[in-house]
Amino acid sequence: MAVKFKDYYEVLGVPRTASDSDIRSEYRKLARKHHPDVNPGDKSAEDRFKDINEAYDVLSDPEKRKRYDQLGQNWKAGSDFTPPPGAGGTRVEFGDFGDIFGSDGGSGGFSDFFESMFGASRGRGGSRSGSNFGMQGRDIEAEITISLEEAHRGVTRTISLEASQPCPDCGGTGSKDGKVCPTCRGAGVVRRTKTLEVTIPAGVREGSVIRLAGQGNAGTRGAPPGDLFLHVRIAPHPLFQIVGEDDIEIEFPVAPWEAALGAKVIVPTLDGTVEMNIRAGTQGGQRLRLRGQGLARRGGGRGDQYVKIKLVIPPKLTPTERDLFQKLAAESLFNPRDLLPRR
Ligand SMILES: [Zn+2]
Repeated sequence: MAVKFKDYYEVLGVPRTASDSDIRSEYRKLARKHHPDVNPGDKSAEDRFKDINEAYDVLSDPEKRKRYDQLGQNWKAGSDFTPPPGAGGTRVEFGDFGDIFGSDGGSGGFSDFFESMFGASRGRGGSRSGSNFGMQGRDIEAEITISLEEAHRGVTRTISLEASQPCPDCGGTGSKDGKVCPTCRGAGVVRRTKTLEVTIPAGVREGSVIRLAGQGNAGTRGAPPGDLFLHVRIAPHPLFQIVGEDDIEIEFPVAPWEAALGAKVIVPTLDGTVEMNIRAGTQGGQRLRLRGQGLARRGGGRGDQYVKIKLVIPPKLTPTERDLFQKLAAESLFNPRDLLPRR
């Protein structure tokens, strides 16, 4: 039977020399992008998703990858290909994508090329019951919100989430005492809330993704579990704003006489406080920099903290203050309107 040759390396966009981890990371990227859940009703995304899974199924399995590589590079994707004698017919294990697409047989499964190379482990249109291959657990995507200080220092959090787990009654086999397990109805997995302790390293940022390998949904019948991807969010902070990648900024109130005469002030930082000099003649809106007082970086080092001067006027004056301001007003030669640009 002639079938169209598929270039699995091309499908995943990796070189033929790609390492297992490169293949895995490219696969994850593509699978997330083309997953039917994020592209509902998009037939081409669904086809692409199937191709990606098929390519990954082969390239992530050393045995299959070896057999595939032995075909040589003489084949071009899409050209007619006749499998060498001995190929195909072997029963192999692979995930049952029928479940993902909500279809049973027919449109699910892998291409003719795959089946001619590695054999069909799932009879087309045939019954799946009694088959003993497992399905790898799906990944879980979840969100976690932490404070700015926690992003800076790292934190250990206990989180709870819904995930499928091996059925405790049948040990994940799906059957009990020769009958279909009543707890999981034969699936081998049950949905339960699970609690995890998660360590979030210092230096994460808004949008950072933490991968917890094997903490996704359980696989069926001994197949490996998926991973958990935690997307980090950073809660707004009452004092500090994140600016750029690693810097923070605080709006810092200063009295007119402090700005005019200069002052030593205590400024809050992520780790406590520091003393800072405000020079005589400091203007409102000016940004002063505290080097190395910003956010910790993943690889070490820190960003800076900016102190944005906000001139504040006493909302109410004591009689003495009033008197002093009046003296100043009478005495001063300073006219702020002189600073306006000339027309
Ligand atoms: Zn069970």
